[in-house]
Amino acid sequence: MNVLDNQQVNLQPLKQNLLGMTLQDLEAFFIESGEKAFRASQVMKWLHQMLATDFDAMTNISKSLRETLKQTACIDVPAIVFDQTSSDGTRKWVMQLDAGNKIETVYIPESGRGTLCISSQVGCALDCSFCSTARQGFSRNLTAAEIVAQVFVASILLGKEHRDERKITNIVLMGMGEPLLNYDNVLKAITIFMEDNAYGLSKRRVTLSTSGVIPKLDLLGQQSDVALAVSLHAVSDAVRDSLVPINQKYPLKELMASCRQYINNQTAKSHITFEYVMLNGVNDSRQDAVKLVKLLKGIPAKVNLIPFNPFPDSGYDCSPMSVIKEFKELLMQAGLVATIRKTRGEDIDAACGQLVGKVEDKSRREKKFQDLRYGMS
Ligand code: SAH
Repeated sequence: MNVLDNQQVNLQPLKQNLLGMTLQDLEAFFIESGEKAFRASQVMKWLHQMLATDFDAMTNISKSLRETLKQTACIDVPAIVFDQTSSDGTRKWVMQLDAGNKIETVYIPESGRGTLCISSQVGCALDCSFCSTARQGFSRNLTAAEIVAQVFVASILLGKEHRDERKITNIVLMGMGEPLLNYDNVLKAITIFMEDNAYGLSKRRVTLSTSGVIPKLDLLGQQSDVALAVSLHAVSDAVRDSLVPINQKYPLKELMASCRQYINNQTAKSHITFEYVMLNGVNDSRQDAVKLVKLLKGIPAKVNLIPFNPFPDSGYDCSPMSVIKEFKELLMQAGLVATIRKTRGEDIDAACGQLVGKVEDKSRREKKFQDLRYGMS
């Protein structure tokens, strides 16, 4: 079955979508239906490694079990409503979940690795002032199956063109939404990404990015060792309150304490990536750089400076590249690892903070363009 053609609505909600089930969930599912637990790893491999989209493909499973599975379970994927590749190779998909809800998934190929940036919610409730997803508001959490389906579908679509090598080597939860506000489903999805019978990615290759929902961050540190990225963006509560409003609830001092604790909980040596969007005249002064060094003292940290991606009426400008480079130099002189994020996929609105119902925005733009052409504006 071609996933691109799979527009049908699943009319039997009692069927379980196997894509969102961890090995443990699948084992429980099979045991409950009187089957052997080892069926779980078999089915998991069929799904996430062989990318099977229907049960008939699962040839090492008896025909009668396949028939039972068709009655009780499904492999349900979203429809692809937009699929475009940028001039730099970045590829963006818009996936339709149900009537009103679309999400975006972005694939970023680089030499030696391919990163898939996935969404965890439809829209976002956090209202960060420099992020265009905020404009869309919050619609709903994704199910675990919908989070995993992005990787499943992308693997199938990328595989069509590049059959022999693994294209997705890294997964980042940096698309739409705040992953820690959809904790249970995100945790399940991460578990599936790292599961040997599924995608088998190491913990260094799965990154969760958060604006700092402290209670959930603390829980995550106890339950997972996924790589962590924290959207810091400011070095004082006053500035961060205005950029990342959740800071009013979970201020910097507490956030930094949580980050320290997260690192202490890790069994293996690790670091936290701090994301810092460069906004002209807002958070990009030399003093800001000096304060950032102080703030991160004692935390194994990498700083990722993100050039601001503008969008209409954002009210912000990106810092000049000379300022970003100087900021980076100041951090490096103080011994921090700092990088400047290369903006990718700008021409197809796939860059950070540009992931929106841009499809809607775009159709409005197109309409305006048509109106202009016909002299109606
Ligand atoms: N809610 C999560 C994950 C989604 S955002 C979080 O806050 O981390 C992924 C990254 O893109 C975040 O660091 C976010 O702050 C950044 N970002 C959002 N809008 C941006 C923009 N217009 N330009 C550059 N980076 C942006």
